Amino acid sequence: MKHLLLAGLVAVSATSAWADYPDKPVTIVVPFAAGGPTDKVARDLAEALRKPLGGQSIIIENVGGAGGTLGAARVAKASNDGYTLLLHHIGISTAPALYRKMAYDTLGDFEYIGMVNEVPMTLIGKPSLPAANYAELVKWMNANKGKINLANAGLGAASHLCGLLFQSSVKIAMQTVPYKGTGPAMTDLLGGQVDLMCDQTTNTTNQIAAGAVKAYAVTTDHRLSTPALKNLPTLDESGLKGFNVTIWHGMYAPKGTPKPVVDKINAALRAALKDPEFVKREEALGAVVITDARLDGAEHKKFVAAEIAKWASIIKAAGEYAD
Ligand code: ASP
Repeated sequence: MKHLLLAGLVAVSATSAWADYPDKPVTIVVPFAAGGPTDKVARDLAEALRKPLGGQSIIIENVGGAGGTLGAARVAKASNDGYTLLLHHIGISTAPALYRKMAYDTLGDFEYIGMVNEVPMTLIGKPSLPAANYAELVKWMNANKGKINLANAGLGAASHLCGLLFQSSVKIAMQTVPYKGTGPAMTDLLGGQVDLMCDQTTNTTNQIAAGAVKAYAVTTDHRLSTPALKNLPTLDESGLKGFNVTIWHGMYAPKGTPKPVVDKINAALRAALKDPEFVKREEALGAVVITDARLDGAEHKKFVAAEIAKWASIIKAAGEYAD
């Protein structure tokens, strides 16, 4: 009885020790460069999280490089006190199939907070590319085999994954050019230093709407309703049968972050994802905010485990284009 009482008291004081969380600024690590789509989601989300997190400042720290694995490793090794969080994307589940040696364990080194959104991708080209539509792009690619550059955000990034599937579907190998994020990659695409890129609609919609890049297709198996994207064909209907890539973002904390803190961040995330301003910004750029069971950390973790298995076999099959 005495033991039970003592255990109860310890549990209560452990909970109350975190009652004031957060009482100082919270850092969200973005594992890609500033100015890209993951950075954009993180900054918009930080704004929406501020109120439910008691008005605390949220600092975005960009740790780009190695397809998002450097930033993820930074959070896996950070203090597990709830003040360093990770906003990552599908790359957290594709990296294990692509890196021989990982600096962290995707399922073992994080507390899963919840899933944020799902985002389609688009295939875009530099403004001076002569092809005006997908059929012309295919002709241009066949005429320029061996000379085509494809930008991405490093091995395991969404742009890499999409580019890998695209190359293996069209059976044309391209020279990949890795950046620390597709923000800087977009700058080079606009400048004509690289030819093609596959990137999230959250980074490409405004450039497509402005006519600043050539847009060829969406990567989903259905056309999108976003005004600037609604005339784009799917890659599937353009001849790449079965092509279907949608990426997603999720939030994570270092393993061992106390449950009351993880629960508070999860509650804040749920509130942020209902923030009308956040939802409006996401929808305007083709993204879909999560409203289903994957908002729950344990459900999101199950989803990520399934993604790891799914992409491992797809990446293996497309492996010869993996660089
Ligand atoms: N969207 C990029 C990618 O995974 C990364 C970024 O957000 O900059 O390719």
